[in-house]
Amino acid sequence: MNPYNAPLAEMRFLLEKVFDAPQTWSEMPAMAESVDMDTAAAILDEADKISRELIHPINRSGDEQGVRHEADKVITPDGYKAVYDQYAEGGWVGLCGDPEFGGMGMPKMLGVLVDEMAYSACNAFTLYGSLTAGAALAIHAHGSDEIKEQYLPMMYSGQWAGAMDMTEPQAGSDLRNIRTKAVPNEDGSYKISGSKIFITGGDHDLTENVIHLVLAKLPNTSGISLFLVPKIKVNPDNSLGETNGVTVGSIEHKMGLKGSATCVMNFDDAEGYLIGKPNRGLVCMFTMMNYERLAIGIQGLGTSQAAYQMAADYAKERVQGVAAGGSPTGASSDPILVHGDVRRMLLTIRSLTEAGRALSVYTGQQLDLAKYSQDAELKAKASRYMGLLTPVSKAFLSDRGLDAAIMAQQVFGGHGYIRETGIEQLVRDTRIAQIYEGTNGIQAIDFLGRKVTGDNLAALSEFVAEQVANINSYSHVSEADKARVLGLLEQLLVVAKQINDNKLTQPALINACAVDYLDAFGYSLYGCFWLAMCDAAHDHEDDNFKQQKAHLSRFYFDKLIAKADYHLSQVSKGDGCIMQMDASLF
Ligand SMILES: Cc1cc2nc3c(=O)[nH]c(=O)nc-3n(C[C@H](O)[C@H](O)[C@H](O)COP(=O)(O)OP(=O)(O)OC[C@H]3O[C@@H](n4cnc5c(N)ncnc54)[C@H](O)[C@@H]3O)c2cc1C
Repeated sequence: MNPYNAPLAEMRFLLEKVFDAPQTWSEMPAMAESVDMDTAAAILDEADKISRELIHPINRSGDEQGVRHEADKVITPDGYKAVYDQYAEGGWVGLCGDPEFGGMGMPKMLGVLVDEMAYSACNAFTLYGSLTAGAALAIHAHGSDEIKEQYLPMMYSGQWAGAMDMTEPQAGSDLRNIRTKAVPNEDGSYKISGSKIFITGGDHDLTENVIHLVLAKLPNTSGISLFLVPKIKVNPDNSLGETNGVTVGSIEHKMGLKGSATCVMNFDDAEGYLIGKPNRGLVCMFTMMNYERLAIGIQGLGTSQAAYQMAADYAKERVQGVAAGGSPTGASSDPILVHGDVRRMLLTIRSLTEAGRALSVYTGQQLDLAKYSQDAELKAKASRYMGLLTPVSKAFLSDRGLDAAIMAQQVFGGHGYIRETGIEQLVRDTRIAQIYEGTNGIQAIDFLGRKVTGDNLAALSEFVAEQVANINSYSHVSEADKARVLGLLEQLLVVAKQINDNKLTQPALINACAVDYLDAFGYSLYGCFWLAMCDAAHDHEDDNFKQQKAHLSRFYFDKLIAKADYHLSQVSKGDGCIMQMDASLF
């Protein structure tokens, strides 16, 4: 199986040249002293090393062995525990955590790249740390000082893991239906009772404790509250105490992600502590969910990168057929890379992956600004942009991740369907990214219904105006490509206005058109990022790098950006042909 190598030059280029990370960091006191480009480059180098040498080697074996549930214990595949220990000791779980509680305080702009490498190396393993970091973020934002001091250092250090407990059999996309109950105890804690399904990392043998963030209802309320429920109770001196009525009912047997424990969790009068205000649990959980949504987009991105590397390597080795017009070397058979159709697939994966990485870093930058900027206006604007970009990053990156894995499998021909080559594992592992953390349909409805039309296009108009100004400032890209993207940005506003104007008289319009609108936005945004990357690459010292960027952007503008037109035209067709067929005819 191919070794994984992180695209380090590409990552440094995005940070330094495209999004001017050093400038962003220098303007934020929380970052100014702890990170500069040298530190960032050193962290990226180290992350590449552990992804390649530590995490990637357990990817295949973990898939083959899977997680086991034996005698009430969840056992991860061989090697997971040893790798996790080294990963945690290296500080990777708390990379972007608050230094006051033992985190490394690194910017998310950098964190997204580290996450991408880990997901490229192994989807299943990387989820454990990602859930922990997300849970810690919600505790940091909404927990009391006492809870923060007790739990965060142990979570940032990776000694305790985190889990997100929302889903129940009757409550998936619609969490209003949850039945888990929380009854107040006299000492201010709560008794939590109920069952959750599909809980990633709900239990495992990687850490000595698992900290569950559980959605439950207080007596006589329909509101939802958030509770911290440790698997094992924690004594005041932070030592572990008695068990806490948190048990694993079973583990799910899944299509992929075999090394990730997906658990049915039972809470029987488990002791829990309120996080945030009563009945405001969903708002608090959204801190974790938004983090995980970006992480799951990055799962798709990491998969795309791994898929590209495997397919490109294979296309250079596999010999079949002769190049159109005759073999360039005079051989009787050529590597399949000579064939136009194979090149089309590789260029598609790569041009979408590189623009996707730009989306990931840009989103990370907005997260950093929203959290750390001293400029109140910039901070508020970044928050509005995060609202827009979170569902897009989750859905568009994870959709492209599956596309990439399937296209790479196609490059392998029949060998891609055989387990040996490893490419089918990528397809199985990344499929879930379109489903969990809120399905991509739900992301699109959130995007079009709440983020785009919910404020009468205010955030979208602001975002588009900024992209237009950026594009007009580029002097090293073709005017035709600039005009192409500017036209699409204008159309995005026109079509959003049509939806907004008709949403009350046509109540199904948003739900029926949301996925097409999100896709149109995604392909247009990738156009913006391709312009930004080409403009920044014009004086790159490496001529190959410059040429690659020029070829990939040409491919994107000639072959892929038209997908935005198609999806916009679909939105304009409205919901009539979708909603008119009577339910009895399905
Ligand atoms: C491997 C795995 C790991 C998971 N990890 C976790 C975890 O750690 N924690 C956790 O709490 N949950 C977890 N989940 C649960 C996951 O988030 C849910 O499965 C997901 O949100 C969808 O819910 P559902 O399965 O009930 O589907 P449903 O809600 O039943 O949806 C079925 C279909 O209907 C569509 N749909 C539903 N409502 C609407 C609507 N209003 N408008 C348009 N379309 C709609 C959906 O998009 C979907 O296509 C995990 C699931 C899996 C499989």
